[in-house]
Amino acid sequence: MLTTSDGVVGVSGGEPLLYGDDFLHFIDFIIENSPDTALHVLTNGRKFSDINFTQEMAKRSKKIKITFGIPLYSSRPLVHDHLVGNDGAFNETVKGLINAGNSGINIELRVIPTLANYTELDDIVEFVGRVFSNINQISLMGLESIGWARKNWSTIFIEHSSYSEKIISAIDAAHRSGIPLTIFNYPLCHLPERAWELAAQSISDWKNYYPKECDECTQKSSCTGYFSSSTGRFHQPPRPIL
Ligand code: SF4
Repeated sequence: MLTTSDGVVGVSGGEPLLYGDDFLHFIDFIIENSPDTALHVLTNGRKFSDINFTQEMAKRSKKIKITFGIPLYSSRPLVHDHLVGNDGAFNETVKGLINAGNSGINIELRVIPTLANYTELDDIVEFVGRVFSNINQISLMGLESIGWARKNWSTIFIEHSSYSEKIISAIDAAHRSGIPLTIFNYPLCHLPERAWELAAQSISDWKNYYPKECDECTQKSSCTGYFSSSTGRFHQPPRPIL
């Protein structure tokens, strides 16, 4: 799937890197016809465990602005594999992250808190800082109630403000590692105040939904609000900041 936001073309899937050589040809086409186009590719990173593919991608990444967004759910294989529903996924993703980072490919590492991993947010960030290279950004991303997450909401969602301390620990761990951390998809009223300055507003319409209670909030202009999909039981009540 292709989307555009803020001058960056987003490529997601399914899993785009499963196209293998066809994906490389797609990048060649962009380099030849629109070399100034910036790309963001959302991938599980497993294809980068193939060093030949990684080296081919690394050559191309020197000719175009391209970043790969790769989620890592845990520093423990069992937890990551459980959350992505695939045994062996952790080992391939970690190997892929090592190969890609060591080859100079730009990586945005995504951490998505759920009931299964929220206690280890700081450990994940610590692991990322110690093991991988070329991580340009760690993104702490609130879970969106779509697809697989929506179907399993009651068993994976954890109320944001119940793990505020872990968010602060993750911020501190990122700071120690020297990797910028940005927070996406969290209403400010469900984040600890120390984290507000790291919360980014999305320019995507469907991520900027404000229930009527938000009208009286003093932070509305700097708050990302809610996903428009997060209504009903998927919606944590607004707590207007006065
Ligand atoms: S009340 Fe609304 S605008 Fe205010 S912080 Fe919460 S979600 Fe954001």
